[in-house]
Amino acid sequence: MKPRALIIGGSLGGLFAANFLHDLGWELDVFERVPDDLASRGAGIGTHQELVDVLAQLGIAMDERLGFKVGDRICVDRAGKELYRIPWGHTMSAWANVYRPLKDRFPARRYHFGKGFTSLRTETDAVVALFDNGSEARADLLIGADGLRSAVRAQLFPGLEPAYAGYVAWRGTVAESAISSAAREWLGIDYWLVLPAGEMMLCYQIPAKDPASTAGRDWNYVWYRPVTPGALRELCTDAVGRHHGSAMPPPLIRPDRIARIKQDASAMLAPHMAEIVERSRPFFQAIFDVESPSLALGRVCLLGDAAFVARPHVGMGVTKAALDARCLAKSIAGSPGDLDAALARYARLRGDFGRRCVARARRLGAYIEARSRPEQAWSVEQLDQRPERVLHEVAAALSDIPELAMQI
Ligand SMILES: Cc1cc2nc3c(=O)[nH]c(=O)nc-3n(C[C@H](O)[C@H](O)[C@H](O)COP(=O)(O)OP(=O)(O)OC[C@H]3O[C@@H](n4cnc5c(N)ncnc54)[C@H](O)[C@@H]3O)c2cc1C
Repeated sequence: MKPRALIIGGSLGGLFAANFLHDLGWELDVFERVPDDLASRGAGIGTHQELVDVLAQLGIAMDERLGFKVGDRICVDRAGKELYRIPWGHTMSAWANVYRPLKDRFPARRYHFGKGFTSLRTETDAVVALFDNGSEARADLLIGADGLRSAVRAQLFPGLEPAYAGYVAWRGTVAESAISSAAREWLGIDYWLVLPAGEMMLCYQIPAKDPASTAGRDWNYVWYRPVTPGALRELCTDAVGRHHGSAMPPPLIRPDRIARIKQDASAMLAPHMAEIVERSRPFFQAIFDVESPSLALGRVCLLGDAAFVARPHVGMGVTKAALDARCLAKSIAGSPGDLDAALARYARLRGDFGRRCVARARRLGAYIEARSRPEQAWSVEQLDQRPERVLHEVAAALSDIPELAMQI
């Protein structure tokens, strides 16, 4: 009989695992809480060579539709004057463009939308998942790929909560054809940054989200801004006074908040970068750190953001999820008939990598965090936001980060 696994979460991490284990001959079911296709979500993502390699192993080529190389990395002041420049040439992609080929490669009848995992129980030689519609499923292995607020992690480690980093990322995309020709010419294909005190705004091109788009490319931005916990609660309160925890659905963000971010963009950013914010529909995500004490317990394992969430400054969430899934499959293939040994290997290797990612990302974001937690003692090194440091370190190639390169 084929070994069988249940994957909770049908986003990128879950789909990488599903495709790798399917290729190993496992019988799999993916359960996704959201009721319909996820392709409309997400914005731009920076990639790493290792992500391209993992996709290639699954037969998915990183072509023009999936991603393309940007030019130099350039830091400017708010007048648009160049402060620092380094050659870059990294491949940028869009969340949906990675999701689609992974989703299409996996048998649709085994992917179940609208099924939220609630709890699990273990039996001799089996694990049983329970869902919000009262149904249950049984398998040899359960993989938690259910992201930042993982319900699987909560089952393994009750009380372990994501730690708010003290800042949010305002994000948005706009079709290249929707910005002025002056902005298009100035921006070119480069990767731009502005570093207002205690903040970081970056923007770059990504493949268009709309597959039918003839414009071909969108501009994507991420603007990190300090927000105290109290102000975050305000920000996550909608127009009728309802609070939404720390995850505000984009359509419910109050119009005055959107107007304010556009005003701030015009006052604080270089004019052509401000134009991108002005012409987008901004939304925000609060930034968190998550470190799971272990990636496997019994017949349950965690991967992607369910396992570790590193702040986005390492630009590695998707690559980390892809490498987790590949390591899990490799560990299973390398220990035939011994799932315990496979999971122990997986937990050791990917636990080490995840902890190092979280630590690095925390260091890169310290100067932003410090603005909303000034009472803490911050060292000069932690507060260092010189362009020459930020440009070299943010989303650096894995091969240039010794403490991570050795872990791949
Ligand atoms: C501002 C920002 C910028 C980023 N930029 C980059 C970047 O440039 N490069 C990069 O690589 N990464 C980036 N990331 C990180 C990246 O988005 C994530 O790390 C990555 O998507 C992790 O994927 P995942 O599948 O583990 O989790 P998720 O994508 O969060 O997926 C979890 C899935 O599980 C589902 N789910 C949740 N609970 C349940 C349940 N109970 N039952 C069933 N299903 C459930 C959810 O609906 C979701 O589909 C960024 C993140 C942020 C916030």
